[in-house]
Amino acid sequence: MHRRGLLIILSSPSGAGKTTLSRDLMAWDPSLKFSVSATTRAPRKGETDGVEYHFKSRSDFVSMIDNGEMLEHAKVFDYFYGTPKAPVVAAMAEGRDTLFDIDWQGGQQIRNSTLGKDVVSIFILPPSIAELEARLRSRGQDSDETIKARMAKCMDEITHWAEYDYVIVNRNIDEAAAELKTILSAERSRRDRQPGLIEFVRNLNHEFEARMTGVTQ
Ligand code: 5GP
Repeated sequence: MHRRGLLIILSSPSGAGKTTLSRDLMAWDPSLKFSVSATTRAPRKGETDGVEYHFKSRSDFVSMIDNGEMLEHAKVFDYFYGTPKAPVVAAMAEGRDTLFDIDWQGGQQIRNSTLGKDVVSIFILPPSIAELEARLRSRGQDSDETIKARMAKCMDEITHWAEYDYVIVNRNIDEAAAELKTILSAERSRRDRQPGLIEFVRNLNHEFEARMTGVTQ
């Protein structure tokens, strides 16, 4: 009997290193499934439809909501973002853990859904606001105006830190990545997440009794 998959939610303001950390975690454990969100924003340079996001028109996105295909959805920076439900349900049934790179609104919706007990949520904080801005500028993906909008939003996101199970301050990417792996390993070892344990311990007991009987005869 395998356990149900975990829903690992990573949130942070843009530029705190969440994308790098999720890539690192996926490389460390290829059995993890990354939840590819749908969005109405345009692809950035280097992004491929179906890999980073499913890029949708506004009307297609709204149809997905109306058809009940979204596990959660939210408006972020004037665009819609949402998590398609079917791949998540399939991964959970297979006992595979799913990684979500979503904002606090999505985190809240999944945590408050019927899947809430399978959620492990982690918030990534930047070491300082200056560092956050420097990281946004250095990735060279966004216009000055977009960077300003993202900076204006960063404190909004940060105010939700206390809703998360774990918080990592990303002062150093290698240390933050190691912390993330430790969290995942510990969560997987929780007694209530190992449904085969009762059977395993029962077998240990049988083995013990068989040996003790052998020893005393
Ligand atoms: P970006 O445009 O930089 O890729 O993402 C902007 C923000 O939207 C990030 O904070 C990201 O985590 C969040 N986001 C991405 N996908 C989803 C989603 O499916 N649902 C929600 N609620 N937020 C998302």
